Amino acid sequence: AEEIPIFNNMPPKQYVISDGKLNGVLFEKVRAEYDENGRRSLIPTGEPDVFIQADDVIIAIGQDNAFPWIERDLGIEFGKWDLPTLDKTTFQSTLPKVFFGGDAAFGPENVITAVAHGHQAAVSIHRFCQGEDVNDRLPPTTNLTSQKMGIHEWTYDNNIAHDLRYRVSHESTSKTLKNRLVEVELGFTQGEGFKEAMRCLNCDVQTVFDHNLCIECDACMDVCPTDCITFVLNGEETELRTRLLAPALNLEQDLYVSDELQTKRVMVKDEDVCLHCGLCSERCPTAAWDMKKYLYNVTKVYQ
Ligand code: SF4
Ligand code: SF4
Repeated sequence: AEEIPIFNNMPPKQYVISDGKLNGVLFEKVRAEYDENGRRSLIPTGEPDVFIQADDVIIAIGQDNAFPWIERDLGIEFGKWDLPTLDKTTFQSTLPKVFFGGDAAFGPENVITAVAHGHQAAVSIHRFCQGEDVNDRLPPTTNLTSQKMGIHEWTYDNNIAHDLRYRVSHESTSKTLKNRLVEVELGFTQGEGFKEAMRCLNCDVQTVFDHNLCIECDACMDVCPTDCITFVLNGEETELRTRLLAPALNLEQDLYVSDELQTKRVMVKDEDVCLHCGLCSERCPTAAWDMKKYLYNVTKVYQ
């Protein structure tokens, strides 16, 4: 949107200078290859280098981990990319009293990952200081709460929005290129922000089925817009998948199969195509279906 072309997989190779004056930069074409740990290496493709003319060059480079200040005879082992050798759960290094987290642990990631590392390393440090086994971790806490307020009322909107992602409008380049202090992204207007929020797919809200309450009226099966609920006699999974209202083709997605109902049928739900719209729960006369918000909390030191 700022009309700046971005060329991927083209690291700079050399400045091209003639008569003592910069003409531009030569870039090498490479492709990314990943090893078994997901680490990226750039391999030259063999295509001709690309010359880009330039009056001026601004260098903006990525950063690397550098631990020249850690003496190598301390007992902290370093592996590939000069990263410390760590336990992936406890973040403990090969020197038991030293823990790493964030970019220093496994290389550049985002800030959310760094905060999660901090939590886990803090759990380890706490246990270590108490003389306890750092590998002994408490399980995370999980919580399911109903989203139903009244009989036809939910705490979330269950309309499916087909809108594409709204783009944040930008200030014109005639202003931003003149003054680097001008904010480029103008943000959403109140109306745009509302529409963008309404695109939420409510992935944290799950359908929960209580077979004891179901009277097998099949109303939920009838109302589901994606035909992902089927009441059917149970069977071997591969064969059962073919007998659903909409055959469950994604074998990586487990089926949700209830306990046996009064008529000996079971409720089978294909989670792969559920829109989390809540219509099944809204239609169900006995509240056998409920939409429940799922909250997952990783263990903190104080728990
Ligand atoms: S939440 Fe919507 S899509 Fe999912 S099972 Fe219920 S009615 Fe079907
Ligand atoms: S609408 Fe409710 S009671 Fe009727 S079949 Fe579905 S889950 Fe059972």
